[in-house]
Formats: sequence, C-alpha cells, structure tokens
Amino acid sequence: MKIICVGRNYAKHIEELANEKPENPVLFMKPDTSVLLKKQPFFIPDFSNDVHYEVEVLVRIHKIGKYIQPKFAHKYYNQIGLGIDFTARDLQNELKAKGLPWEKAKGFDGSAVISEKWIDKDNFEDIQQLDFSLQKNGEVVQNANTSLMLWKIDELISYISQFFMLKIGDIIFTGTPSGVGKIQENDILEGYIENQKMFQIKVK
Ligand code: ZN
Repeated sequence: MKIICVGRNYAKHIEELANEKPENPVLFMKPDTSVLLKKQPFFIPDFSNDVHYEVEVLVRIHKIGKYIQPKFAHKYYNQIGLGIDFTARDLQNELKAKGLPWEKAKGFDGSAVISEKWIDKDNFEDIQQLDFSLQKNGEVVQNANTSLMLWKIDELISYISQFFMLKIGDIIFTGTPSGVGKIQENDILEGYIENQKMFQIKVK
C-alpha cells in the first residue's frame, strides 16, 4: 500500500503559504509507517516546533491501473475518506529553501491520519461538491468544498498514474484547503465530511 499526496491543490492555501501556483499537480509520498495507528494519539515529534494540521479528502483505489484516462478514472476508486497530512512546517521550510525533498517533514511516523470510516462514493451525488471541515478543540479551523480543487479527483488519478502504477488499497491525499495551523499538546482534532464525523485525534 502506498500513500500519494497532492500539494497545492487549493488556490487559497497556495496564497497562505506564499507558494507559486504549479503548472502540474505537486506530488509526494508518505511511507506506510507514516500511518497513525488506530485509536492512538498523535505525538508531536522532537524535531519540530511547528507541526501543522492539513485536513484532506482521501480516495481509496480499488482497481489496479496505469496511464488512466480522466474519463475512466472514476472506475478506479470506490470510497472517500478524510485524513490529516501532518507537516513539520519549520523543517519543510528549511528543506524547501535548500531545494531538498520534503519526506522528513511530511512522511515521519504518525504523520498520516486516515479515517477508519470510509464512505462509498455512490452515496454522494457529486464528489466534487462535498463540504469538509476540521475542528480544533470544538472550533472550525478549516472548512472547504471539493469544488475548490484546482485539479479534480479524476484528473489527479490520471496524472498520478502516468508516474506511479496505482494498486488496490493505495490512498491519495487530495490536498489541503486554507486554514492550516499549528497544533499543541492536548489539542483535539475532529474531521467531518458533510455532517458525518470521520475521525477524532488527540495530540500529545
Ligand atoms: Zn497536504
């Protein structure tokens, strides 16, 4: 199982980090060891003083494929989840400034929150019209709609599959909207798609 993440897929988030809008989707990977284990808290790692939450809609691949055309992409996934792409922003900024890969800042142990709950995509009329949000200690900190994606899910699958063969069980993090921010010990993070609670995480 691999985790493929998309960076810079929402215009307002690109602005808040003062990044350039890319010509193509920005891709990076998280190793399988980055998955936060079920029912476990997230421990802030020693190497960062600025870990950010990034709530993201997840897509689970259920059919093997490469060079997938956008018009056929919907056949390759059946479920939608929600996750957090925890990011050591201080370390990422250092690596970015040197032109180095981001893995240490994005792929460390526990950095991938994946909802236990998954929803069949057929339950939604249009997956590019989904509200999703993140609450921190009961307050909404990120709130967006999948219609705001620069590249739609089918386009992402097509693009990703030009480089990386997709296999059953692979998970795609589709990018975070604006509102990312720092976490602190004892924070409680809760994610929602529409009105359905998808996960709850405690920070330690
Ligand atoms: Zn992200």
